Amino acid sequence: MIENKGGIVVVISAPSGVGKTTLCKRLLQSSLPFAYSVSFTTRAPRKNEIEGVDYYFVSRKEFQKMIEEKKFIEWAEVHGRLYGTSEKFLNEVIKNGEKDVLVEVDIKGGIEIKKKYSQQAVLIFLLPPSWEELKKRLNKRGTENEKKVKERIERAKKEIKYTPYYDYIVINDNINEALNTLLVIIKAEHYRANRVLNKKFIKEF
Ligand code: 5GP
Repeated sequence: MIENKGGIVVVISAPSGVGKTTLCKRLLQSSLPFAYSVSFTTRAPRKNEIEGVDYYFVSRKEFQKMIEEKKFIEWAEVHGRLYGTSEKFLNEVIKNGEKDVLVEVDIKGGIEIKKKYSQQAVLIFLLPPSWEELKKRLNKRGTENEKKVKERIERAKKEIKYTPYYDYIVINDNINEALNTLLVIIKAEHYRANRVLNKKFIKEF
C-alpha cells in the first residue's frame, strides 16, 4: 500500500449505455474534490472527445511500449481496443491526499485496481433499471448499429456476473438520484474507521 493522506480511488464501472460517462462528469462538477484519471486508449476519438480530457489517444505500438515500461496499473482489451490506467497518476493523487481519484474502467480493470489498492479503492458498479431500458438507451445513442448493440448487451451480461467483487451497486434509473447515491457513498467512505484512524491528527489522541 502506498502512503495515503486521505485520497480514495473511486472506481466506476458499468455496461455501456448505463450513463457512466454522464454520471462521472456530474461527479466532477459536484462539490466533492476529484481528480479524473484520464485513460490511454488505442481507439479513435469520437466526435466531441478531447485529447487529454476524455482519453489520451495513442497508437497500438505506443500502448505496447507503455505496457512493457509498466506504466499501467491495469490495462484491458475492450471491444477490440486497448485501454489502460496510469499508475503514476493514481499514486500521485493518493499521495497528495487533497482529492479522490475518479477512475472509469471496465470490470476487469476495477478488480485489478482493488487487488492493488485494497482498502484504498472503492468499487461502484452501475446497473440499468432493466435490460429493456439498456437496449433502448443503446439504440437511442445512435452511435452503434444493431450488431454492436447486441454485442454490448452480451458483454454486459457477462460483466454483471462479476458484480459481487464490487463494493456497491447503484441503479441508474434517474440520473439525479443515482448521482446523489454516489455522493452519499463516496462521502461515507471517508468516515470509515480505518480511514479516519489513519489520519495524522487522530493518531495524536
Ligand atoms: P469507451 O470506448 O466506450 O469510452 O469505453 C469502453 C469501455 O472501456 C468502458 O467500459 C470503459 O469503462 C472502459 N475503459 C475505459 N478506460 C479504461 C481503462 O483505462 N482500463 C480499463 N480496464 N477499461 C477502461
